[in-house]
Amino acid sequence: MNNFNPIGKVINGFDNATSFHEIKSKPSVIEIYDEYAGGLFKIEHCGYLDIVFYFHKSEGYSFQGPTHSGEVRGVFASRSPHRPNGIGVTTVKLLERKANTLIVEGLDALNETPVLDIKCTDTSLFAMESETSAVHTAMLLSVPRIDIRNNIVAGNTKALMIKAGQLHGHFCPGLAMGVMAATYAMQEMKTDSDGMEDLLAITETNNCFSDGVQFVTGCSFGNNALIFKDLGKTAFTLTRRDGKGIRICSRHESQEALRKAFPDFYTLYRQVVDEKNHDPELMIAYKKASLERAFGTLSIPFNELFAVSEVNVTIPAYAPVHESVICAGCGESVMQSRTVFIQNQYYCYSCKNITTGTLTGQGIHT
Ligand SMILES: [Zn+2]
Ligand SMILES: [Zn+2]
Repeated sequence: MNNFNPIGKVINGFDNATSFHEIKSKPSVIEIYDEYAGGLFKIEHCGYLDIVFYFHKSEGYSFQGPTHSGEVRGVFASRSPHRPNGIGVTTVKLLERKANTLIVEGLDALNETPVLDIKCTDTSLFAMESETSAVHTAMLLSVPRIDIRNNIVAGNTKALMIKAGQLHGHFCPGLAMGVMAATYAMQEMKTDSDGMEDLLAITETNNCFSDGVQFVTGCSFGNNALIFKDLGKTAFTLTRRDGKGIRICSRHESQEALRKAFPDFYTLYRQVVDEKNHDPELMIAYKKASLERAFGTLSIPFNELFAVSEVNVTIPAYAPVHESVICAGCGESVMQSRTVFIQNQYYCYSCKNITTGTLTGQGIHT
């Protein structure tokens, strides 16, 4: 194995370990030693550079440790500076070249860090998937749901599910079924939500399914277009304000269909969820099986999972815009409809210990 000779060093104001966000937030200078300066020819053509450097102040390493978010990961699944070979790789933006020095943005290396190599960043793998183009951003600003809408029309439930996972936090068959049911209903009704209560979703369960429904239909608690009926059924109705809608309910055979399609998963489920065995290897296997099962659910024929019916429903009035008042007890601003009026003063329910409907994992209760 060769010994590495540094080709240059980092110059910035950070001499000691600090938050990498802070280091990244300021430009750094990379000074290239004279004998390597010939390698800088046409570097201005690279908008971005991969800087390979040596963690000169970092000692020792362990195979696993907490990342910045606190999640424990293996050293090869993290950007920890404590590594077997102490090598750092960071993609930076090249702001300017002045003779033998490069001014870059986004480098998370300390002052005097030895630089081992510099490469022109290869973005070809990501170019096709990039959503950050100015055109796309402009489109999202005028129609926030444009991507969701396009994926509904195309029947691309996989893409919808990936995005719904951002809301739901994990991938599961419940989410997949919510995505499938909602995509079907949206296609049937040839509609989309603008978040103004003209399209309503009535869900009959507060579990994973409803997050798929919320994401795909755009009907949510926040825009008052989601109605929750505490009925404990994997079912939902999509309707316009005229009350003509379609209800999609999971068939009771659907559980058996899932069980048959993913037999290994249930063994793991019993261990991890029922028996609360959180052994790391078991958790990894469970996560992998969950993912396969979640996305695999999308391939089960719709009619095996769901029954569809046309329904007429009674639609509530548009959500009223209530005046807010100041509670005489706590001084907080509160919707007037959620207050009691005592001796010419408004009091919020909290201050008067008045119980109101609360939705938890147990359903609605007081
Ligand atoms: Zn879920
Ligand atoms: Zn109060």
